Amino acid sequence: MKDILIIGAGPAGLTAAIYAGRAGMDALVIEKLFAGGQIANTHLLENYPGFPDGISGQDFAEAMRKQAEKFGAEFVSAEITKLDLSGDIKKIYAGEKCFEGKTVILAGGAIPRKLGIEGEEDFIGMGISFCATCDGMFFRGRDVAVIGGGDTALGDAVYLSNICRKVYVIHRRDQFRASKVVVDQAKAKENVEFIMDSVPERFLGGFDFEGVELLNKKTGEKTTLEVQGCFLAVGYLPDTAYMEGIALDKSGYIIAGEDTKTNIPGVFAAGDIRTKRLRQVVTAAADGAVAADEAAAYIESTKISF
Ligand code: NAP
Repeated sequence: MKDILIIGAGPAGLTAAIYAGRAGMDALVIEKLFAGGQIANTHLLENYPGFPDGISGQDFAEAMRKQAEKFGAEFVSAEITKLDLSGDIKKIYAGEKCFEGKTVILAGGAIPRKLGIEGEEDFIGMGISFCATCDGMFFRGRDVAVIGGGDTALGDAVYLSNICRKVYVIHRRDQFRASKVVVDQAKAKENVEFIMDSVPERFLGGFDFEGVELLNKKTGEKTTLEVQGCFLAVGYLPDTAYMEGIALDKSGYIIAGEDTKTNIPGVFAAGDIRTKRLRQVVTAAADGAVAADEAAAYIESTKISF
């Protein structure tokens, strides 16, 4: 049995693993695919303190993982199917496999939101992507669209403008949610064009992806945009669907305060998965440190004999 089971290997989970190891705790990080979480999809992380020139999300995640391993954290790749957190010994199931721990840190982050419109499911991975850093190169010299108006969408547009011939940014309002610095970077690119007040209505194509039909919400006009690729950057949803017994808010985020404590003793929530105002790498990392410290304190103070 492990002292701390950590679900998720994004900045929150990896920081928790570093702090757990340094506190002498035996930690196992359970990751779905690879280290990094959302950050692995970020081509340039520009606002994490200590990197004045920015750092690629993949390099950042890899460095954090190495640091966690240095302090003794173990990693396993598994898709979690069920949690049993009700007893003193916490159990995490991945199919037939069961991991046991004295405490659990839930740091699974969030998954990309879909639009839920016609054609979307048909073309995911065949023209529609959620990750510009991963898939941008497939569209070298082609025309692409980015849907969304947040930091991810505008950052993706800047990244793709250096690879693609033309990048259309489609946003449903006339104001961007993204920070000014990244909006200005995108506006400075000659091959980035903004289509405002517009939403995608359906994706088009037969065998190949051909583009997207747009509705201008102000004028009611419908147009067809011919592009070979489309990047969806319309936000994230917390990855909490399988979490029975954990108190969630109405949007599905785990209810936990700055101390990362959930409604179940010995179970903590860190990073984007918990209720919080500012979801950033730096706040996720801070949560990870707090959660590991709280988990260690719980093990020290509990009267349970494991
Ligand atoms: P976000 O901030 O939630 O933005 C999602 C965007 O998608 C919004 O502009 C939203 O429009 C739009 N949208 C949502 N649902 C839509 C729908 N059904 N149809 C059309 N448009 C829709 O998500 P994000 O950009 O992925 O950022 C997530 C968090 O990560 C944020 O806190 C962000 O600051 C952070 N982040 C930071 C960095 C960085 O610092 N380097 C990079 C990436 C992300 P509205 O604006 O109208 O709501």
